[in-house]
Amino acid sequence: MAKVTEKSLKARCTELNMGPLRGTTFGINFERTGNGYTVELKYRDATPPKILAVDVTAAEAAATVEGAAAGAAAVQVAGLDKPEFVTRDTFIRQAGERCPKCATKDISPGHLSALKGTMTQQCLCQRCGLSWNSIYRLDDYEAAVAVEV
Ligand SMILES: [Zn+2]
Repeated sequence: MAKVTEKSLKARCTELNMGPLRGTTFGINFERTGNGYTVELKYRDATPPKILAVDVTAAEAAATVEGAAAGAAAVQVAGLDKPEFVTRDTFIRQAGERCPKCATKDISPGHLSALKGTMTQQCLCQRCGLSWNSIYRLDDYEAAVAVEV
């Protein structure tokens, strides 16, 4: 592994902040102090920064940065970090009546097409402009009942 320098640390933080951490609520920052490096999570809102390591060596700072980035990636995969779209379960619970992105009911259902027991309906959100397909699956049939007059 290459030697960790202030420059390589900075490059790595920038890479992470612009890449994997871009969709999260925070970025990783470090500062050169008199006794080494301080690593902290800087939130994008008013949340005070969380100090992860104080006065550590460059190599320790790099390890802290990687650990925090891996943790953030795991949180994102687990879906705890305010995902942009609702999950499939939530969409179904809302009976497909809400936009999966902005949750408004102001959606335009469009063209329906049925194929082999699956019906697809193109939908368009009037608020955020998202378009998606709502997918319906064949469930049952009802015979038409002749009504005696
Ligand atoms: Zn929407």
